[in-house]
Amino acid sequence: DLLLPRRALLSVSDKTGLLEFARFLAAKGVEILSTGGTARALREAGVPVIDVSEHTGFPEILDGRVKTLVPQVHGGLLGRRDLPEHVAQMTEHHIAPIDLLAVNLYPFEATVAAGGDFDACIETIDIGGPAMIRSAAKNHAHVAVLTEPQHFAEIQAEMEAAGGISLGTRRRLAIAGFGRTATYDAAITRWFSGVNGEVFPARLAIPGLLKQGLRYGENPHQQAAVYADGTGRPGVVSAEQIQGKELSFNNLNDTDAAIEAVAEFERPAIVIVKHANPCGVAEGVDLAAAWDAALRCDPVSAFGGIVAANRVLDGAAAARIAAIFSEVVIAPDADEDARAIFARKKNLRLLLTGTLPDPAAPGVSFRSIAGGFLMQSRDAGRVSEADLKIVTRRAPTAQELADLLFAFRVCKHVKSNAIVYAKGGATVGIGAGQMSRVDSARIAAWKSEEATKAAGIAEPLARGSVVASDAFFPFADGLQAAAAAGATAVIQPGGSMRDAEVIAAADAAGLAMVMTGMRHFRH
Ligand code: 5GP
Repeated sequence: DLLLPRRALLSVSDKTGLLEFARFLAAKGVEILSTGGTARALREAGVPVIDVSEHTGFPEILDGRVKTLVPQVHGGLLGRRDLPEHVAQMTEHHIAPIDLLAVNLYPFEATVAAGGDFDACIETIDIGGPAMIRSAAKNHAHVAVLTEPQHFAEIQAEMEAAGGISLGTRRRLAIAGFGRTATYDAAITRWFSGVNGEVFPARLAIPGLLKQGLRYGENPHQQAAVYADGTGRPGVVSAEQIQGKELSFNNLNDTDAAIEAVAEFERPAIVIVKHANPCGVAEGVDLAAAWDAALRCDPVSAFGGIVAANRVLDGAAAARIAAIFSEVVIAPDADEDARAIFARKKNLRLLLTGTLPDPAAPGVSFRSIAGGFLMQSRDAGRVSEADLKIVTRRAPTAQELADLLFAFRVCKHVKSNAIVYAKGGATVGIGAGQMSRVDSARIAAWKSEEATKAAGIAEPLARGSVVASDAFFPFADGLQAAAAAGATAVIQPGGSMRDAEVIAAADAAGLAMVMTGMRHFRH
């Protein structure tokens, strides 16, 4: 089943690696056909080449829109060499077999990324290239199709070692080819639906470029890989890994949660994540101060966690962070001191993103469900002071107000039901992922007691704190639990049937309460 190509068609926009491969084919006696620009490049380099238009007797027309869309090309790619009828028809119509196709497409994705206007994008939609790739991939039994830059070297090596291209390799190449045209069309679909204002088109196509296979998934018996979706959103997919072993599936998921959360804050901030939930979040005058405050919230859970910073990591912050074991540290950048300190921790993975993801930027998120998936615009909602409605007799103090807004931002990144206690720009108790809100409130209060004990201080951390709830309090009980723990002010969306009852309870406890009108469920 070894294919020894006798005729090849090369038609590439990106000409990287082209000349070396073409020289190799020519030396093997392979006849080379080529389109305009590719043929010119080969000819200038002294590689023997025949223009496709000469081969087919039909010129390239319509500004290159029609170059290879002719029976001589597609018949040469699609004809079955094992069927006498096919061979006879090819002979009758003067169609010569083409055994090897190398195509990379007009750079549509790059044109969109560079902000090309509508006409430029339309003109960069390759028609003949994908058609040829699909013809060759369908007929992989007789044809090899090369669509990625690394295929040149791979195929040259196989032909040198084995004398030809195996069926196994041709199948792999065909899959890569169909994958390429699928992601290409997905990119076109996404761009076109975007410019036309169709967020949820009738048929959805998602481009995915394999970034890396992972050792396993959420559990060792699950397989996994990570893909880039081409949006270029800064974060864990685009980050550069400076040191440390390979990231796991769970690392990637947790690190994503951490960097998205820390990007919410304007002042220097640290987020520590465990199992996709923050276990400590703090702002500070600098990252070192923010780290100390974030760690104090839950030093037990923080061990082996994921740390995200929203500033360039400096030596002072790095020294503090490196004092305990963390799986991953992610930040926009790290200075030389910080890098040197982390370099001593061989197992720590350091990821640098360059910039932070914009929390207010539009985008979509997906969740798979049996037989399909849910798609929604990402939670880009952010509450500011102007959105708040004071509902209690007492209004929050300036310090309470700052903490309320901070706590509600943290809440957005905690799994529901989320209850967050905060004081002085730092979380002091987080209750996450409970099925009842009052349980989350109790857990957050208990966590703050544990943090107080761990800090070895007499004054409870939750005393004088504020409390945030990601959704309304359905009953007064959760709010009363918070007041009992020492909270003095509350932020919540409001909108419960029992709002009046909850407000009355807040007034009775002397609490200040504000309503946001915006909910931040996260499941
Ligand atoms: P060249 O630089 O050789 O002139 O053009 C190479 C590019 O043309 C490749 O990206 C290839 O996919 C594309 N191409 C080949 N045939 C056709 C065709 O018939 N129509 C269009 N629109 N593009 C083609």
